[in-house]
Amino acid sequence: MNLILLFQGDFLSSNHVCLTGRRLEHVNNVHRAKVGDILRVGLLNSNLGQGCITALDEQNLEMDVLLDQAPPPKLPLTIVIALPRPKALNRVIAAATSMGVARIILLNAWRVEKSYWKSPRLDEYNLLRQMILGLEQSVDTVLPELRQARFFAPFVHDELPGLASQTLCLAAHPQASAPCPMGLSEPCTLVLGPEGGFISNEMLALEQIGFQPVNLGPRILRTETALAALIGRLY
Ligand code: SAH
Repeated sequence: MNLILLFQGDFLSSNHVCLTGRRLEHVNNVHRAKVGDILRVGLLNSNLGQGCITALDEQNLEMDVLLDQAPPPKLPLTIVIALPRPKALNRVIAAATSMGVARIILLNAWRVEKSYWKSPRLDEYNLLRQMILGLEQSVDTVLPELRQARFFAPFVHDELPGLASQTLCLAAHPQASAPCPMGLSEPCTLVLGPEGGFISNEMLALEQIGFQPVNLGPRILRTETALAALIGRLY
């Protein structure tokens, strides 16, 4: 937690907050902070700033806060990612958020197991929690846009062309012959496949709407590792 993320409900007045629970525990046990210490804070979907601790015990943390700094800009990047297995989903969402991805779309694909769509990890509350962990990690306050596309073909035919227009369209695919480009300055829409990879019809559908298959070298990586490597190369 490199940032104490604040919510409107924490405010007792316009510049004074009272925190309990996970954030209080973190400040007590990890920061080992005391009254008078300054912590980095930020208000969800708003500014970053500093909090000066005015009271701290096992029950409450109170701070005077000044929120005067803009959050870091997002990457001009949308990722469209085949729904990962539930265990990996949390890591992927938190990691994509921490790397500054502006928009995340969870997509169905032939090799996504149907049961993954029933996972409680897809609950709005869990997904929000993972994004919050990513924001706290990376010192950002702005949630990425997150949505689910449960039907591959209608999404790819009807929606993706509009969402991806005016962006560089790439599909990460280990068997692609072109290498993933480096150091982009323009916006990009990046598609990643499921654990078993996209089937050929899916790759064809993506190519037909202008997505170029690109590779990251001969090693097949886990989705979350591939995602980090791809973003590192692209931006
Ligand atoms: N079993 C699949 C690999 C799936 S890895 C196969 O053999 O094709 C999951 C996803 O991570 C892939 O669909 C791709 O989007 C991305 N990925 C993993 N390794 C990659 C690589 N070397 N190059 C490009 N994309 C990769």
